[in-house]
Amino acid sequence: MSYKNRKVNKSKVILVAVIGLIIVGVANKTWAYVDEQRHIKAEQQRIEEEKRKAEEEKKKYMVGVSHEGKKYSYDAKLVYDKLSKYDYSNDGKKIVFLTFDDGTSTTVTPQILKTLKDEDVKATFFLTGENIERGGEKAKELIKQEFNEGHAIANHSYSHDYKLLYPNRNLDLEAFKADFAKTDKIIKDVLGKYFSTRVLRCPGGHMSWRGMDELDTYLEENNKVSIDWNALNADAEGKRKNAQELADYAIKTAQGKEMVVLLMHDTYGKEETAKALPTIIKYFKDNGYEFKTLV
Ligand SMILES: [Zn+2]
Repeated sequence: MSYKNRKVNKSKVILVAVIGLIIVGVANKTWAYVDEQRHIKAEQQRIEEEKRKAEEEKKKYMVGVSHEGKKYSYDAKLVYDKLSKYDYSNDGKKIVFLTFDDGTSTTVTPQILKTLKDEDVKATFFLTGENIERGGEKAKELIKQEFNEGHAIANHSYSHDYKLLYPNRNLDLEAFKADFAKTDKIIKDVLGKYFSTRVLRCPGGHMSWRGMDELDTYLEENNKVSIDWNALNADAEGKRKNAQELADYAIKTAQGKEMVVLLMHDTYGKEETAKALPTIIKYFKDNGYEFKTLV
């Protein structure tokens, strides 16, 4: 091999080496880039996954009904918005929310549950902690039954004491929050730590008290909803009524409303309410209403 050829060969080797280095360099850079992108993507996926899990968890905590009961549930916030505007229309679709306050009682609640099961309709129970404690283990079993049979569970305070919650008819927000928290805890003890409800009903009705703007701000900020009613069987007002009178009252006050939130009570002494329930349900069925629960 001549000197010249050797020189050319040497140049070729250097050239190849340089190209090789460039290729390795570029490849390295490319690889680093791809790797970085992969990391970014993985990180984004991880964040997305965490967000999704948090949402799932939140839903679980906010649900208010069992898995089975979900198909009957209705967004309480939409109902709140309607009620607060006295707008009881619903795009031609009739819906009724049967609501029972002041339970659980060991005397009336079982009768109510039996009728609901026989008629295959769902309701919302606004529980008071004091009555749950009064009913002991039996009351707790009834709450489990309510939940397992697809009814919605909501909070109606612990004490139901107007003087405590609204001294001089003015809301005491701290007392209100503490009283409702007690019942939340009792319900959680019965239904498990994953249970929670965002729906509540103010004893005496939100409409009845002063200083409630403060409560509305608190509820809004905490994704909670207060639900009053736009129809009632009047089992807690005026003179004592028999089953027929209660049914008549409920039907009269529901008339002409596409969206009905019917107030009733399943506490002690409300046996006539239990007796009136089949007639009330029949009215809503005959008039094409769908039965929904508040969550
Ligand atoms: Zn009440």
